[in-house]
Parts: sequence; structure tokens; C-alpha cells
Amino acid sequence: MSTAATTASDRLLGVYRRPEMTFNRGAGAWLYDTAGNAYLDFISGVGVNALGHAHPRVAAAIAEQAAVVSHTSNLFHHPFQAPLAERLAQLSGLSRVFLCNSGAEAVETCLKFARRYWYSQGASRNTFVALEHSFHGRTMGALSVTWDAHYRDPFAPLVGAVRFVSPLDPDALLAAADETTAAVILEPIQGEGGVRPLTKQFGAAVSEACARTGALLIADEVQCGLGRTGVPFVSPTLGISPDLMAIGKALGAGFPVAAALFSDRVADAAQPGDHGSTYGGNALACRAALAFLEELIDRGLLDRVKAMGAVLERELHALAARVPRVVEVRGAGLMWGLEIEGDAAAVVDAARSRGLLINRTSGTVLRLLPPFVITEAEISRAVELLEASLRESES
Ligand code: PLP
Repeated sequence: MSTAATTASDRLLGVYRRPEMTFNRGAGAWLYDTAGNAYLDFISGVGVNALGHAHPRVAAAIAEQAAVVSHTSNLFHHPFQAPLAERLAQLSGLSRVFLCNSGAEAVETCLKFARRYWYSQGASRNTFVALEHSFHGRTMGALSVTWDAHYRDPFAPLVGAVRFVSPLDPDALLAAADETTAAVILEPIQGEGGVRPLTKQFGAAVSEACARTGALLIADEVQCGLGRTGVPFVSPTLGISPDLMAIGKALGAGFPVAAALFSDRVADAAQPGDHGSTYGGNALACRAALAFLEELIDRGLLDRVKAMGAVLERELHALAARVPRVVEVRGAGLMWGLEIEGDAAAVVDAARSRGLLINRTSGTVLRLLPPFVITEAEISRAVELLEASLRESES
């Protein structure tokens, strides 16, 4: 088979399988293709477009900033990094913030500074404990703590020294963490791995293992954090207190921005020159993130996620009761996975042809990540379309 590029899109590296249509416009929970078809977007750019598409206040903040100054580099201050760091610190209870561009970069930063902390202590602790079904990103470090071998194997050797334990087995976690462990890393609700919320019981084992061995705890809240489940962060609901946290996706409401959040003791190990990122926290990114946090916290969007999350939860459980091939409904707030029998990819295709965008993750799971601005009527419409798609693709 020839690998020669023949059309414009052939010039893009072949790492994504994409349907044919092209989106050129969005508004709220809706995307429109170049043929003028409307799609109800329950993927939200994989959890990114938390305020929906083309949010007017985010658009205005970015446009206003672009007309003044976009980028200064981190060699200099600009007026928006410190207020953003202050807001994130207040919200998370972690005291220092490193701004970067993607979830993987935030995770990478956390992994590096877990090791940096132990290095500064003069201790050779450099291993990690991660969870089965985890997904932490595509860079070499983040990939090393990502569970599914099909992501990792083609790129070996990776960072190594990672032990994976089942999130259903607190005893395995307690046995895996020891005095060589730099950090335990987990997603409080596993996203790409099939929307699997960790239990409080597992959270208790994590706290116990970290307290007993001194291992740091890294929470990856890139997908589940920043309001997606109706709370600022999910970690406190599991009773865990991370030393490091990775956030991203929703933070820029569509603008690429992410952050690693640090406790005092880990931050104290950081020295000038230890780490950096050319674009990290540029003025446009900070304006977008500040606009997002204003909507989420100051304008009451968090309460709305709670309310709409309860509606979606109720409707999905009712759907599962009507459609036997839905075997499990998992998630919280506006982050849900439907474990189904049969071909999940066919359901995704059927839904898209009916005007609903969802995606499949972990083989047999349909994932729903609607924007935080979703309405009750849009939820009902999406569940109707989903039910029709499940029934159509069954036969
Ligand atoms: N961590 C989690 C929990 C994620 O879900 C993802 C992306 O899906 C990442 C990290 C990587 O984020 P990014 O794709 O922005 O690098």
C-alpha cells in the first residue's frame, strides 16, 4: 500500500481515524458541518469545551488580549499568570502552580517533580505505582504510567519502574507501594479507561499507603476535574489529599492550557532552571482560563453542572432499564460511560448519523462528556438519539 500523500488531509500524520465531515462552526452544545448539518456535541472536544462552543465571554477575553499582547515568554511577567495561579490555588488547596499547554505536559511535570522532591531529600526513590485502566497522556513519562499496553508497547523502552495495580484491589495497592515509590498516580475517575470512578475504600488505601511509605500522591484530574462532576475537584470526595495535581482540558474552555499544582513541600524542592515551557501560561491562555473560572465559580455554573448531572444520571439509568444491551452506567455529574454489549463503534456511527456526537473508549464503553452549559431539553434529546442508535445498531 502506498503511503504517498494525495490530498491535503493525507498530509496529516495518520494517527487519527476521522469521519468524513468537517466542522466549521459551533454554538453552545451544537456543532455544524460544512454541509450545514447540526450535531449535538456530547464529546465537547474530549472534555475540553466545558462552556460549549464559541462562548461569547471567552471569545471576547481572547480577542481583547490578542489585540494587546499575546505572548511574553516566561522570561518576563505579564499581568494574568499570578491571578490565575491564585484562583487555582484557592480552588485546589495546593499552593503553587506551573502553567503549561496540555494534560500530558502537566502529568509529565508532576512525575518529574515527584522525582525532584526525593532527589532533594537525598533519597533514591524513583518508581511509580499506577492503576490498571489508567490513561495519563502520550509523552514518554505519561505513557509509562498509562496502563493499556497497546499505547505503550510501540514506544518502548519507557520510563520503567512502574507497578500497575487494580483499582478494585486496595490490598494490591497497599502491597505495591513501598520505600522505593516516588509517587502513586491515579485519576479519581478514570476517563479513557472506560469511565471508572474509584471508590472511597480505594481512596482510603491510597492515603494509608502514602502515609505508611511516604510516597507522594499525584492526582490526574485532567478529565474529571474543574467542575465536570459538579465539584471543583474529585480527589476530596475520595478522601485523598494529593501532593501534586495535573489539570487541563476544561481549563481553557477550548484554548490549550493546563497546569501542574504543587503542595508546599514539593514546590520547595523546585529551583530556577529545573523546568520550563516556552508557551506555558501565555497571556491568551491565562485570559481564557480566567474567563472559564469566572463562569464556573462566580457565575454559578458549578451548581448547574450538579443539577444537569442529576438529570443526565436519571435519564441514563432509565435508558439502561429500557435497553438490555446497556450493562452498566458509570460516572458522575456530566461524565458518564455506558458499558454495552455488542459493537460500540457501530453505536457511535449510528448516533453521528442521527446528529449526536459521542465516542467510544476502552472498547465497549460509550462515553458522554457534554458541555457544562447543556440544557435539560438537550439532555433528553441526546438520550432519545442514543436509544434509537443503540436499537438500530443492535439489529
Ligand atoms: N490525563 C487524563 C486523565 C486524560 O484524560 C488525558 C487526555 O485524555 C491526559 C492526561 C492527556 O491530556 P492531553 O491530551 O491534553 O495531553
